[in-house]
Amino acid sequence: MRVNITLECTECHERNYLTSKNKRNNPSRMELKKYCPRERKVTVHRETK
Ligand SMILES: [Zn+2]
Repeated sequence: MRVNITLECTECHERNYLTSKNKRNNPSRMELKKYCPRERKVTVHRETK
């Protein structure tokens, strides 16, 4: 049930992280606070589709 996803910065839209999630636990789009190297600060990253 695990699928690979890409996490994109919601501010500059840089795709910074590859990860996986459990579709059963997180059926909707995930949002995580992550460090964005382009902006050099922590921003919200959202799963892309
Ligand atoms: Zn960013």
